[in-house]
Amino acid sequence: MSKIQPQLPLDLSEPRKKPVQVVSMGDLVEGRRKRGPKPKDIATRFWKKVKRGEPDECWEWTGATWADGAGQFYVNGKETVEKAYRASFIINFGPIPDGMLVCHHCDNRRCVNPRHLFLGTQKDNMSDAAVKGRISSGERHYNSKLSYAVVSEIRILYEKGGFTHKSLAKKYGVASATISDLLRGATWKNHERVGLCDL
Ligand SMILES: [Zn+2]
Repeated sequence: MSKIQPQLPLDLSEPRKKPVQVVSMGDLVEGRRKRGPKPKDIATRFWKKVKRGEPDECWEWTGATWADGAGQFYVNGKETVEKAYRASFIINFGPIPDGMLVCHHCDNRRCVNPRHLFLGTQKDNMSDAAVKGRISSGERHYNSKLSYAVVSEIRILYEKGGFTHKSLAKKYGVASATISDLLRGATWKNHERVGLCDL
């Protein structure tokens, strides 16, 4: 698996007051580059929601989480909810390169310890899951047009509002019933999901 290991900050024993690389949280969401709070303030707000342990332990998010365990972190003036571990990556390492996913060494989506995060591709994600025998029953049995990464995206889009079952079905080229089923959790159940990375 071709992991890209980001350069770690020298000392993470204390929350970073000022990121080495100044990051606009607007970068978290494609196409939105609104002026937001200063990165320093974002980092401070972020670390308040993290239970930090020893350097190599999982540092779990203590705020609200998605159904899959990933923390929810509001950005862009509360307009956008980003996954907390992705926010951790950006705060500590800088923007996520296009086409890359933020992945966990530890498989713990609630974890935001930057030491446990790395960049991978969707291909890495799936081959890693396959190697570990963890390709989910969902990905084996359900419509092959979808993957957990896509399902996660659909659920987030729906939760944010502005999409109907029908418009999502059209966007992703599947039946409305497929969308309804995955949104109510009848298919693509979160406990079945296995990949290390996420959108
Ligand atoms: Zn961890």
